[in-house]
Amino acid sequence: MALDSKIGIYDDDVIVIGNGPAAISAAIRARWVKGYSAMPSSVEIIGAGPMGGLLPWGGAILTGPGWAFKGEDLLEKLIVDLDRFRIPAVRGTVNNVRRAGPYWVVEGEGFTPRRALSVIIATGARVVGDEAAHFQRGVFMTFKGYEYIPMIIAEATRYSAGAGLLVVGNQRTEMLRKLFLGVSDRAGGLVFLLDTAQKVRGEDRFPGSIVRGRLLEVARQTSAGASQDGDGRFRVTSIDHKGHTQAITCGAILLDYTAFEHMPAALVSSGPGDLENALLHVQRDERGFVMVDRWMRTSVPGLFAAGDVTGRYFSTLMALGDGVCAGFTAHRWAYRAKFGREPRLFAYMASDEIITPDCSDLPEIPLTSRPKLLGDEREFYCLAGQNGLGRLEESEASIFSGHLTVTDISGRIECPAAHLAELVRKACAARLMTVHVLSTPPGHGSAGNDIGDFNRDLEGTNGLAASRVN
Ligand SMILES: Cc1cc2nc3c(=O)[nH]c(=O)nc-3n(C[C@H](O)[C@H](O)[C@H](O)COP(=O)(O)OP(=O)(O)OC[C@H]3O[C@@H](n4cnc5c(N)ncnc54)[C@H](O)[C@@H]3O)c2cc1C
Repeated sequence: MALDSKIGIYDDDVIVIGNGPAAISAAIRARWVKGYSAMPSSVEIIGAGPMGGLLPWGGAILTGPGWAFKGEDLLEKLIVDLDRFRIPAVRGTVNNVRRAGPYWVVEGEGFTPRRALSVIIATGARVVGDEAAHFQRGVFMTFKGYEYIPMIIAEATRYSAGAGLLVVGNQRTEMLRKLFLGVSDRAGGLVFLLDTAQKVRGEDRFPGSIVRGRLLEVARQTSAGASQDGDGRFRVTSIDHKGHTQAITCGAILLDYTAFEHMPAALVSSGPGDLENALLHVQRDERGFVMVDRWMRTSVPGLFAAGDVTGRYFSTLMALGDGVCAGFTAHRWAYRAKFGREPRLFAYMASDEIITPDCSDLPEIPLTSRPKLLGDEREFYCLAGQNGLGRLEESEASIFSGHLTVTDISGRIECPAAHLAELVRKACAARLMTVHVLSTPPGHGSAGNDIGDFNRDLEGTNGLAASRVN
């Protein structure tokens, strides 16, 4: 079936919000799909903080001690595939996702708005920022179990060396309130930075001052007042729901993850730039986590979620598994929008069709989505010239008359497929051109399709190249 004519130019089939294990796993799955014939989705990741979310913060025990990794080792494995498939990872904080015709428009700070056919929310429980770089060197978090929390607070207090302790949490930090009695004197001041715009239960009984907002930036002050290991104090910037920033100086920071496991700050946040309003129509549980079905679909069609943001067990393996599931489902969604039918995903999921001897798992590329130029033809020739394809620059006849296959173009300009692939890669990156990329297994050069080798050369082309259509 032909491509839906209502679909115009867009940036990616799938945009993944977040850059933790759930997001990365979802992006890789949607981009790669499988090692045999398939047409994958174009994908982009938009993440607020350092790559990996909480993953590189410590060990990732997947099922039990027998299957344990250092988080950073696991991240390294994921990054290999992000690189291999050239999945763009944009650094930015998403604060809006809205529908515009057949697309989702994803907007935020630090990047230009993007349009996609489907969106996966994998934001975890909170925005992970610069504080990650100081973990266990002045930045502490509540973990292990409740009986360990007094010990962790004591450790953070010691580290603060009288320069003040900042506790980062939300409404639910009131559950730890009693553990902080007497800490202010020992720490040289106690501030609770609570990610909420509302009054917190028992607020008057908090043993320290309350600042409303979320952590925006953490910087080390090395000159004045070095703390016990000589690293210096922190200058923390918070931002409240009106966009006002505030500076807080302290010797140590304690992240209250018990609070964030109760309530996801990334969605129920106090600051501007949260997703709260954007996700008003998405069904959430009583704590604010995004509800999903077993295919990782939210209550809003075309919007999927994975990982901690779904509020089940907070575990790396679940985040990775959710990512795989959301990646497949978002891929199916985009594929249906482009080709009007389900992708063949066997042996991950059998489809209900009669299999014929001559069947191909690759779709027919409709004329409407064959390679074509989006920009000025001269710009394309100019780019070709810059890349040593002078013949192309001098060409008088248009190579883009009508809808052409890559084989047509390659033949017409006598350009080897590998060179053409490189040129097309650049043209796509410059948003000059659109192509579809198929993943074809070795030995299936053309797989019954006229794009063949060219596609294999382009397999790692970034998401923009794969599925922008008009
Ligand atoms: C203290 C602690 C110990 C843990 N120990 C283990 C363990 O031993 N074994 C285990 O399996 N699991 C463990 N976990 C859980 C595991 O770390 C998480 O389940 C896993 O990291 C969840 O992955 P995620 O991708 O859903 O979220 P995260 O890892 O939190 O990643 C989410 C990412 O999205 C980004 N983001 C948030 N909002 C936005 C936005 N608006 N725009 C753009 N980006 C955004 C964040 O900055 C972050 O980088 C532990 C967790 C904690 C807190």
